Amino acid sequence: MKIAVIGAGYVGLVTAVCLSEVGHDVMVVDNDMGRITLLQAGTVPIHEPGLDLLITNNAAAGRLQFTAAMSRAVDHAEVIFIAVGTPPMEDGSADLRYVLSAAGEIGRVMKSFKVIVNKSTVPVGSAALVHSEIQRVLQDRDVAESVVFSVTSNPEFLREGDAIADFMSPDRVVIGLSNDGHYTRTKALMEKVYQPLVASSEQIIWMDFASSELTKYAANAMLATRISFMNEMATLAEKVGADIDCIRMGIGSDKRIGKSFLQAGTGYGGSCFPKDTKALVQSAHARGLRMRVVEAVEEVNNAQKNILVDAVVERFGENLRGRQFAIWGLAFKPNTNDMREAPSRVVIEALLRRGAKIAAFDPVAMDEAARVLSDDLGLSIARVPQFSFALDAMSALANADALLVLTEWDEFKQADLAQVKHALASPIVLDGRNIFSLTETASLGLVYQGIGRRNSLAQATGISALTPLNTFAESD
Ligand code: NAD
Repeated sequence: MKIAVIGAGYVGLVTAVCLSEVGHDVMVVDNDMGRITLLQAGTVPIHEPGLDLLITNNAAAGRLQFTAAMSRAVDHAEVIFIAVGTPPMEDGSADLRYVLSAAGEIGRVMKSFKVIVNKSTVPVGSAALVHSEIQRVLQDRDVAESVVFSVTSNPEFLREGDAIADFMSPDRVVIGLSNDGHYTRTKALMEKVYQPLVASSEQIIWMDFASSELTKYAANAMLATRISFMNEMATLAEKVGADIDCIRMGIGSDKRIGKSFLQAGTGYGGSCFPKDTKALVQSAHARGLRMRVVEAVEEVNNAQKNILVDAVVERFGENLRGRQFAIWGLAFKPNTNDMREAPSRVVIEALLRRGAKIAAFDPVAMDEAARVLSDDLGLSIARVPQFSFALDAMSALANADALLVLTEWDEFKQADLAQVKHALASPIVLDGRNIFSLTETASLGLVYQGIGRRNSLAQATGISALTPLNTFAESD
C-alpha cells in the first residue's frame, strides 16, 4: 500500500518505519529540510532503540523514502498520516496550527481520492477541522467537486523508548470514522494499513471521531493519574514508615489494578502526559466543566518534580554555594533523548539558582539537554561555569556532595555502588527513581534516600531488602 507520513518526529518516523517494515511503500515528508537531509543520508535525528536499523533496511529495500516536497508525498499515497506536533498554548490547550497547516498543504496539492489520518494527539473536533480546512482549500482551487477525500482519527499510544515494539504489536488500534459517503472505502483502506500489525481484526476498535479523539486523552490522563497517585502515596508511606515498593507489589498483583505505571519517582515528564493532561483540563473548561481529578494529578506532579530539590535543601540548606552535585539522567525516561518536560530541567534550574555546582551525565540526552537547558536559562549552558556535562557516570561523581538519580537508565542500575561511594566527596545518594537496593546501599554505608522507601530500617539494620513477601511473612 502506498502511504505518506507528514512529520518526521518521534511518532511520524516510528509510524513510517514500522509501516514500511510490514511491506507498505512509505514516503515521509517534513518541512524541516535539515531533518530530511539527515534522514536521506541515513542519520536518525532522534534516539529510539531499533529505529536506525529499520530505517537503513527499509530505505535500502526501497520501501521508505524521505522528502521535503509535500506534493511528492501526497501524489505517492492513498493514505496520508498527519503526525506533526500539537504543543500546548499558553492556556494549556493544544495548538492545532501545525495540524491545520499540514491539512491545508495537502489540500493545495491533492489531485485524487485520499484518506487523511489524524495521528497527532488532538482535542475533540479536530478531525472535523482538518476536513473543513482541506475542503476550504479545494474550494479555493475550484476542485472541490472532483477531488474527494475522507478524514479519520487514529491516535497513537506508543511509548518512547519502546516505540517500535509498541507500534509493531499494538494492544489495540483505535480508529474514528465519520459516517460520510466514503465510510466503507475508508474503513477498508484503514484495515489494509493495519492488517499486517494486528493479530485479529478485533484488535481494531472502530468508533466515531469524538470518542476516538477523547480516548487518547483519557488513556494518558489515566496513566498520569496512576503515577501521581503512587507519588502521593509514597510521601505518606515515608511519613508512616511504610515502603512504597511493598505497596506497589501488594496492589499491582491485584488483577483489577495491574502492575504498570505504579512506580513512584520524581514525577512524569515527556511530550505527552504534561501537555495532554493540560489540554484535557482546558477542553473541559471550554465546555464549562472541571476535570478535578486531572487537575490534582498535574498539581501533584509539579510538586513531585521538586522532591529531590526539597531533599537537597533539607540536608544542605537553601544556600548551596560551594556545594556540588552529580546528576545521573537527564532524559525524561530511559532509552530516549527526549528532554521535553523532563524533571531534570526543574532540578537543574533550582539547584543552579541556589548557587550549586552540577556535573551531569546521561547516556544519550546530553546534546539535547544542552539545547533545552540553554533555552530554559536564557543563555548557552556552555557559558554557565557552575554546570558541566561529565564524560561518564563515574566522573560526574568527583567532588560531589551527593548523587541525584533522575532517570532509571540500566547503566545506572548496574553501577558498582562501592565505587560510587568511593568517588563521591560525601556518600549521599538521592535516588529519584528507586533503582538501588536498600540493603546494598545500607551495607556499604551510603546515606540513601529514595522516594517513599523504608529508609530508616534500611540504615539502622541493613536488612531491609526484604522482598515484600518476606516483609509480610515477618509481620504476620
Ligand atoms: P515531534 O515534534 O517530534 O515531530 C513533529 C514533526 O513534524 C517535526 O519534525 C516537524 O518539523 C514536523 N512538521 C510540523 N509541521 C509540518 C508540516 N506542515 N509539514 C511537514 N512536517 C511538519 O512530535 P512527536 O513527538 O512526534 O508528536 C507528534 C504528535 O503525536 C503529537 O500530537 C503528540 O502529542 C503525539 N504523540 C506523541 C507521542 C510521543 O511519544 N512522542 C506518543 C503518542 C502521540
